[in-house]
Amino acid sequence: MTGYSFPAIFVSHGSPALILEQAPARDFLSGLGRALGRPKAILCASAHWETDEAAISRAERPETIHDFFGFPKPLYEIRYPTPGAPDIAEAASALLRGAGLGARLDPARGLDHGAWAPLYLMYPDATIPVAQVSVQPLQGADHHLAIGRALAPLRADGVLVLASGAATHNLGDFGRYALNAAPAPYAAEFDRWLKDAIEEGRRDDLVHYRGRAPGAERNHPSEEHLLPLFVALGAGTAKGRQIHASFTYGVLSMAAYAFD
Ligand code: ZN
Repeated sequence: MTGYSFPAIFVSHGSPALILEQAPARDFLSGLGRALGRPKAILCASAHWETDEAAISRAERPETIHDFFGFPKPLYEIRYPTPGAPDIAEAASALLRGAGLGARLDPARGLDHGAWAPLYLMYPDATIPVAQVSVQPLQGADHHLAIGRALAPLRADGVLVLASGAATHNLGDFGRYALNAAPAPYAAEFDRWLKDAIEEGRRDDLVHYRGRAPGAERNHPSEEHLLPLFVALGAGTAKGRQIHASFTYGVLSMAAYAFD
């Protein structure tokens, strides 16, 4: 026990090219590591690893996965050579199984850009051990809340639970707006609803967001980018607070939340 619990954090990772761009969200992520301090290890739930049953990477030297196409060449040259966290992966897997949730350890899976892109900005020295946990798009919000709840004890041991997805994510409209354009009204409306629900602690509304939030399906035609939010929500024990708000490309809210 370290005696200090990092809040569980949800970040919107935006486009993989955020690292190369000038945007308020890039500045925010660049300062977030310093603001939080250095955890003993990071367990990152990424929207870019989808599995049927929860999977956790126990790779000792996770490779940097460039899981995107058509972006500027320098992005493909970035490596984030941080060590893996097999001990944390095994502890996480035991917690999930103990909670009656399926979990399998993946011996080889590296870090996808949902994990390494924000971490590259947050902790550029790449020395904090990282394990990744997958999302299960077929199992919905409730399941991810349960995953977060099961993983919460890791926080008391100095592990940062970092969930990486997107507060709004309609890629069908991506490319219609400039990098720092004002948000599309339907995205701004959903983003506001999400902030209010999180800060007012309306967990039931959040879990049922698809039926209750304005424009839920339009903002999340598929759920995988919002599901990490529920992992962070479940790992927290109090109301969330927004720690960043901005948009990129008019439809990608870059909102971030902390759950104490
Ligand atoms: Zn993404």
